[in-house]
Amino acid sequence: MDTYLDHNATTPVRPEVADAVVCALTQHGNASSVHRFGRLVRHTLDEARESVAVLVGVSPASIIFTSGGTEANNQALRDFDGHVLVSAVEHDSVLGAREDALVVDTDADGVVVLGHLRETLASCEGAALVSVMLANNETGALQPLRDVMRVAHEYGALVHCDAVQAAGKINVSFADLGVDMMSLSAHKLGGPQGVGALIVRDGLDPEPLLRGGGQERRRRAGTENVAGIAGFGAAARIALENLDWFAGLTKLRDDLESRLRAAVPDVVIHAIDAERLPNTSCIGLPGMTAEMQVMQLDLAGVAVSAGSACSSGKVAPSHVLQAMGQDDAAAQSAIRVSLGWNSDARDVDRFVDTWVTMAQRRGANADARRSVA
Ligand code: PLP
Repeated sequence: MDTYLDHNATTPVRPEVADAVVCALTQHGNASSVHRFGRLVRHTLDEARESVAVLVGVSPASIIFTSGGTEANNQALRDFDGHVLVSAVEHDSVLGAREDALVVDTDADGVVVLGHLRETLASCEGAALVSVMLANNETGALQPLRDVMRVAHEYGALVHCDAVQAAGKINVSFADLGVDMMSLSAHKLGGPQGVGALIVRDGLDPEPLLRGGGQERRRRAGTENVAGIAGFGAAARIALENLDWFAGLTKLRDDLESRLRAAVPDVVIHAIDAERLPNTSCIGLPGMTAEMQVMQLDLAGVAVSAGSACSSGKVAPSHVLQAMGQDDAAAQSAIRVSLGWNSDARDVDRFVDTWVTMAQRRGANADARRSVA
């Protein structure tokens, strides 16, 4: 049996979610049609919207369904009329949304440096929008969103929060955080890929990226992805019911980390001093690239991610770890292990056994190379 420990990349769809998707696929009306077929589909959309709204404590009207977190982030930032500030550890879909964005530093745990945020805001004339994620996808580190809000408000700035990795894993309340916009993605919380949401507080009106039709209250044109949205709704409902269970993953994750540290003293657990998601561990192994680790683990039937991104065949060091002050070698040797709704102690055992054997052999291989040289 294979071990899947890559839930931050995408979660396996829960069976109940697959049922909701199939059920929606059998409804063949268009939600914009007034006849009974259309009304049935409209009802499916309304129910899903309600479930997503309950997950983060907002009114259903504040939700714009999108094709995922990337689109939601782009809609929040792209056409904002003013300065955009982003933290250095944001997801590429935030970093790439605005080429002119001002980048705010993070500390060694990848947490936003509030003093630098303040300085950067002070240098801006006119309107400003700050975009800071709630939880980092590579390390799981949580950002001090309330402090970010406080500083942003001192300067009259708006705040967008990419909560793609946090929602469904920890309790997320749009109102408690006090943010102005928030992005979500279904496939990070047990739902299907290709569907997400931008949540917008009352009175704000980000420019639509897609124009033409009146769907989503004229904020996102195009016939809705009804089956995807139905799956999103089901996943949001189940994730909310299981938040306490998810918090329990902390124990499994901590156990995993302490076993690695006991067996391989030079292992680095990135952002270990930060408050983190319960399910995520970013593990650095000096002297062995992340790609090599991922490949060897894959051969042993264990699926994890490389922290660094691979584009056009070239492996780039993780920008997140670089922003945390790690050098290129360290930023290229970290893997991400992320547990989820179908993970258990056997998965952790299998990962630990395989990884420790691989890490210890690395020492033997290096010794052999040294004695030949
Ligand atoms: N934001 C974060 C923090 C993510 O981890 C991801 C996906 O990895 C996204 C945004 C993009 O979401 P999607 O895959 O739905 O476009």
